[in-house]
Amino acid sequence: MDQNVAHPKSLYLYDMTWPEVKAALPDIKVAIIPTGSTEQHGPHGTFEVDSARAREFAKRLAQRVYPHALVTPCVTFGISGHHMHFPGTISLRAETFIQVLMDIVWSLYQHGIRRFFFINGHGGNKPALTIVVNRIRQEMDAKAAWASPTSVADDVIKQRVKSPMIGHACESEMSQCLYLCHETVRTEYLTKGEIYDEALAKHLSAVPVEEGRFWEEITANGALGDASQANVELGQVAIETALDRLTAFLVNFMNS
Ligand SMILES: [Zn+2]
Repeated sequence: MDQNVAHPKSLYLYDMTWPEVKAALPDIKVAIIPTGSTEQHGPHGTFEVDSARAREFAKRLAQRVYPHALVTPCVTFGISGHHMHFPGTISLRAETFIQVLMDIVWSLYQHGIRRFFFINGHGGNKPALTIVVNRIRQEMDAKAAWASPTSVADDVIKQRVKSPMIGHACESEMSQCLYLCHETVRTEYLTKGEIYDEALAKHLSAVPVEEGRFWEEITANGALGDASQANVELGQVAIETALDRLTAFLVNFMNS
């Protein structure tokens, strides 16, 4: 499915030349910076899942406000130490991730951009993103914000999923991939998470305590919920809801 046919216009830095950027800059009010990860997504998702979702969502968001948003290449390494025991996972230290984002923002600042919106595809990045947007606001003459599309559409996702648990390589995430980045899904291997009973009981008890755990303490195959229930219709309603809600935010933010 080539989404670009239906939505032809977004300013994506990797597809531009510098004279094109120079010509576009007077209209650009915000940089959208996708952040992802390079980590396992069970037996059915490739390492690109988080990065591809963030990048493709960011491009569609930019199309909604064309020509006022410039989308940067995705930051494809995130904070993934909790997945490290699954072969192939690559993680940045939180300090490194923060510095990478600050350097990207500093560079864009040199080109005159003063609004920065991170579109995040990976839960492990969230605490660092909160630190980054506050640093940008406090240390620079600029404004910054971040959002995870999955969290933005949380209510409509939870109304529709059949799984008792979602959050990673799950019914929701793989549905979003089927809609946004089909190439990251091994559809023939979509399967249930092999979640340990104790982990599920802890999850369902829902006491708001943050405990550091490795992913293999929660699920044997790296997935949560039941990705065999994934479907493109759920992905579409989740993504389009998040796009509608974040477009409303972005229009105010980039003009603030
Ligand atoms: Zn993911």
